[in-house]
Amino acid sequence: MSRSSIYDAVVVGSGPNGLAAAVELARNGKRVAVLEGKSTIGGGARSAEITLPGFVHDLGSAIHPLGYASPFFRSLPLEEHGLEWVHPDAPLAHPLDGGEAAVLERSIEATAAGLGNDAAAYRRLMEPISADADRIAGFFVGKPGLLRHPLALASSGVRSLGDAEGLANSVFEDEKAKGLFAGNAAHSFLPLDRSPSAMFGLLLGTLGHAFGWPFPRGGSQSLADALASYLESMGGEIYTDSPVGAVEEVPKTRAVLFDVTPRQLLDIAGEHFTEDFNNALKRYRYGPGVFKVDFALDGPIPWEAEGGKRAGTVHLGGTLEEIAAGESAVGRGEHPERPFILLAQQSLFDRTRAPEGKHTVWAYCHVPNGSSFDMTERIEAQIERFAPGFGDRILDKRAAGTAELERWNPNLVGGDINGGYMDLRQLFTRPMPRPNPYSTPARGLYICSSSTPPGGGVHGMSGYFAARVALRYLA
Ligand SMILES: Cc1cc2nc3c(=O)[nH]c(=O)nc-3n(C[C@H](O)[C@H](O)[C@H](O)COP(=O)(O)OP(=O)(O)OC[C@H]3O[C@@H](n4cnc5c(N)ncnc54)[C@H](O)[C@@H]3O)c2cc1C
Repeated sequence: MSRSSIYDAVVVGSGPNGLAAAVELARNGKRVAVLEGKSTIGGGARSAEITLPGFVHDLGSAIHPLGYASPFFRSLPLEEHGLEWVHPDAPLAHPLDGGEAAVLERSIEATAAGLGNDAAAYRRLMEPISADADRIAGFFVGKPGLLRHPLALASSGVRSLGDAEGLANSVFEDEKAKGLFAGNAAHSFLPLDRSPSAMFGLLLGTLGHAFGWPFPRGGSQSLADALASYLESMGGEIYTDSPVGAVEEVPKTRAVLFDVTPRQLLDIAGEHFTEDFNNALKRYRYGPGVFKVDFALDGPIPWEAEGGKRAGTVHLGGTLEEIAAGESAVGRGEHPERPFILLAQQSLFDRTRAPEGKHTVWAYCHVPNGSSFDMTERIEAQIERFAPGFGDRILDKRAAGTAELERWNPNLVGGDINGGYMDLRQLFTRPMPRPNPYSTPARGLYICSSSTPPGGGVHGMSGYFAARVALRYLA
């Protein structure tokens, strides 16, 4: 890049939201550059061989119901730029002690059929919401500042804003259905007796039925690479190894969009903002962190439950009670002995991830923000509990705690993967209550990361919305 170039817009950070913002600006005829601090693009959507040669691991995001359902990504020709979605046989399995598993199947009917006494209750809960699935995905396309949450629109609206424990206990009788719901709700990082944890349980189940829980062939990096390739085909420029420490370091441009979280924004651009705005950035709350382990295996995970072998994602934590206790412990700043594990086994359905007959496993659990506790043994013990013999198949592994994750991507403050806590208050009004969450008090400076609505996850919608706001300024 000739640093004297004049751009319409510069995006700082090449995560899915940064790339989405750049794409939206470029497809509206703007001259755009992306500055990425690290040596590779993609932010939370990157993949690499971090264990043995030939084993491709997702370093951040693995499973992409939000990415697949994202109206913005769907509007782009990403398949022409190398993106291919892989749908596992079943989106999710949730094993229980004793060798059985609840399975989230693509159809509500088939899922309900596996839930015994709770079959009818499951259908009653999910059918009306899933009939609204397009509208639910469509919440992404509302006007910035007027975002309404999907499930607030859906027929079970009010209940969805409550807590997962209360909802599951009032609707279901047995551990299978309760556990399945609890595992989805635990994606919220909230204790399961806190609102709106129920919404996450409903949203992820609904997305599974309506869209599936697919992942990109070759790794989540393929999604970032497809966005980058499309951007470059429109003349957009991307520069890696270009960390931005201050606004003044950005090449000449009319607008800057920051794919960073409030703490970083304060450092980079705080002197251009009002005191009130800076104080609100300082008050922004981060959520629990994660502890992650990637495994290279010499065979598939030997799940006791058949359902485990058909699913791309497996939730490990057994009953609602156990998952709720674990997530509450994390909320209190503790490290549960039996943590809730989110596990993905992409290589079962995507042979590009590992050498013939070998497999990759991606697994993480929640830990207190900034934790330095090594959860590797507890994660392995939870997998072994539902898949005896797992440990014997490990060829290599690589663990990452909160500090390592933050070194890898500075947006993961204290290991928080959602760009900030997603409780009722901060989910809808992030980074702070403001009519337009993407703008700042400084003309031409915007925030486009997951610290803006609709929040964490690989969907690109924060980037898209921020770009739409910037385009009005650039018009
Ligand atoms: C372990 C893990 C598992 C996850 N699992 C899933 C999942 O399965 N499904 C899902 O949908 N989501 C998942 N996520 C969340 C998802 O990755 C994030 O929500 C998403 O990547 C956020 O996108 P973003 O563009 O806002 O920020 P990020 O993807 O975090 O990108 C920010 C980028 O900005 C760069 N940057 C930061 N500061 C600067 C600077 N000063 N100068 C230049 N560049 C800078 C960073 O290096 C990074 O590349 C996971 C995340 C992690 C870490």
